[in-house]
Amino acid sequence: MTAFIRWEAVQREAIVFYRFRGSPWSDIPHGFLTRKGGVSAPPFASLNLSHSVGDDPAAVAENLRRAFAAIGLREEEVVTAWLIHGNRVALVDAHHRGMILQGVDGLVTVEPGLALFMRFADCIPVLLTDPTLPAVGIVHVGWRGLAAGVLEATLELFQRRLGRCPSALHAALGPGIGGCCYAVGPEVIEALEPRIRKALPLHRRNGAWHLDLPEAVRQHLRDLGVTSVVAAGVCTACHLEDWYSHRAEHGRTGRFGAWIRNP
Ligand SMILES: [Zn+2]
Repeated sequence: MTAFIRWEAVQREAIVFYRFRGSPWSDIPHGFLTRKGGVSAPPFASLNLSHSVGDDPAAVAENLRRAFAAIGLREEEVVTAWLIHGNRVALVDAHHRGMILQGVDGLVTVEPGLALFMRFADCIPVLLTDPTLPAVGIVHVGWRGLAAGVLEATLELFQRRLGRCPSALHAALGPGIGGCCYAVGPEVIEALEPRIRKALPLHRRNGAWHLDLPEAVRQHLRDLGVTSVVAAGVCTACHLEDWYSHRAEHGRTGRFGAWIRNP
């Protein structure tokens, strides 16, 4: 179903980000910024883009300046959100430029040129596009959001507000914590089992259940009718030189950015 897709690095000065190439992603401006090229000191080194993790505000401001310059966007024109691991999703337009939406974990737009931006450290960045409309979306999907139905809420917004069914959409999953590194307790398994129709992608390792969160997201999207799903296949906790991992860095770390812009 999905044509050949490449996951490629792009370097602009000291900033490095990754993106997907191939149809339709080559035509949709998007990317995932690594933690390289910023000015923050450990444990936030170096391109931390979050003001809410205890990093020096001046360093974060400089990181944001560098990151947005490298990706060709203006910080005051992107729409972002204060993430809460919930299931609220907003349809945004030109009026929301520069705004931080409170308590929202999904953003969708049909506004030409509008960019959506979010911050991550283990949760899965899910980009969505319907290139024919065109429309784009970004969703923050951790186990809590998955269990709360954030993907259902996003697809319902596309369907009810934009008249697009899930089969018209393409999804791309960025770096997030992999099954190799994500030991989970029974509360996670019990919360997800009613939501994931097939067996949860779990395996036993060193006496603990490990959840393959990207695979759970991919399975769930497919169950909901999104057949075109590509994934970076990059574990944040295994690659701390490139990404932030809340789990592997024991909660003391930064956030990397992901964005998508409607063409
Ligand atoms: Zn890993």
